[in-house]
Amino acid sequence: MASSVLSDLNTVIKRFSEIGLILNFNKCEVFVSEKLSASAQADIITSFEHVTPNFTLQTRESLTLLGAPIYEDGIPPAINSKLDNFHDCSDLLFKINSHIALYILRLCLFSPKFLYILRCCPIWKFPRLTSCIDNTLKNSICKILNISLNPQTWSQATLPIKYGGLGIRSTGDLALPAFLSSVHSTVSLISDILNVINPTDVVVVGLAEAESTWGARFPGESPPTEKTSQAAWDSVNIKSIHTTLLNDSCNPSERARLLAVSEPESGHWLHALPSRNIGSLLDPAALRVAVCLRLGLKICEPHPCCRCGGPVEALGRHGLYCQSSAGRNFRHAALNDLIRRALGTVNIPATLEPVGLSAADGKRPDGCSLVPWFLGRPLAWDVTCVDTLAPSHVQGSSRKPGTAAEDAQLNKCRKYAFLKNNYIFAALAVETFGPWSSDTKQVVKEISHKLVWVSGDLRAGEYFAQRLSLAIQRGNAASVLGTMPQATLM
Ligand SMILES: [Zn+2]
Repeated sequence: MASSVLSDLNTVIKRFSEIGLILNFNKCEVFVSEKLSASAQADIITSFEHVTPNFTLQTRESLTLLGAPIYEDGIPPAINSKLDNFHDCSDLLFKINSHIALYILRLCLFSPKFLYILRCCPIWKFPRLTSCIDNTLKNSICKILNISLNPQTWSQATLPIKYGGLGIRSTGDLALPAFLSSVHSTVSLISDILNVINPTDVVVVGLAEAESTWGARFPGESPPTEKTSQAAWDSVNIKSIHTTLLNDSCNPSERARLLAVSEPESGHWLHALPSRNIGSLLDPAALRVAVCLRLGLKICEPHPCCRCGGPVEALGRHGLYCQSSAGRNFRHAALNDLIRRALGTVNIPATLEPVGLSAADGKRPDGCSLVPWFLGRPLAWDVTCVDTLAPSHVQGSSRKPGTAAEDAQLNKCRKYAFLKNNYIFAALAVETFGPWSSDTKQVVKEISHKLVWVSGDLRAGEYFAQRLSLAIQRGNAASVLGTMPQATLM
């Protein structure tokens, strides 16, 4: 009853004044849960105005608690308000470097802004709303990266980075896992507040419907054991999308691409903080090529103009395995330089192109440490970057990711077998689409441990891996763009 609330409010105001406190009426809100006639509502407003001047009268659409709508009627206005805010900010994204814009969109501007409301409200009941949010997100990504996404490539883009996506999650995919995990996380607290002894006796509005919707969406799947974990609920959907994409891959190349970009090492560059000052910023053209290769998007118009005289297809992959590739030497030098500098940082000076290692045929690896690496023997290494989808590798890559890198590692080990008595030899083989060979993983892991030890920064190893990954992407971009005729300057 309004009169009871008004009476209680008067009591609060009186008691507060006795201890020197004053209610801030500008922050007072009044909500009437019953449906009232216009005259009855006017009476209530008048009564409250006498006690709390400047109060706000809330409706079912506008009533929120800590920013989350209480009633489902309030969900559409709340989402539209968030979308309006996003549109205001997103205009600025298109005016800055696309790598930085993508990073901000992923980590600050979109899903993180919606996650709270997804956890608190049953947004999953509003497919048209989630579809509207996702379309806004998709259009922004397309505009930032200058790409076009079809339903299949959009599905891949919304996967987490470790599943081959861009890590920009769709709200349609997140809504149900976010709500379910949030409700299960709060059940014990609700039971405490309501003084219910057994938390299973607590009935949370919408929970049964949400679990039933989840069951219908993933028939045959049991709910996760850890029901309070959003990732646990989410992983069922993620794996389902990933499997569908793999099954729908129309040829070995597409399957090999998806398997390769789903390897953990393939996504390091997407985790890098883009900054020109630390050399981790990709220019817009390189970023576009990197994203197009990852998602299997068209990069250019087909043309017969590669410097080798061969034709270049719309996916632009010819440049990655062309013998006249423009990025090959650049990428090779960049990777070797990064390894040499990382070794130097951990007080293991090293030299590139060492001479005199083989008296017989003059073979020399790319680099060699000048002090012992392990068991009193120096580290000798040789870097190679092979194309995951080259005609000679594509079948193997479509069966198992990293096959091309492992084959290249084996070849290098045979070539430099003469070093094994005096050196620790590491064949550092990586692939254009990201996977690393086992030797590469091991050496990078050991250098990373030493970097953490020397710098005291627990993420020093991650940064090293990100630099290697960025160097591969820059090399890819140079290779792909190098197949095109040079522009004539004005
Ligand atoms: Zn060529």
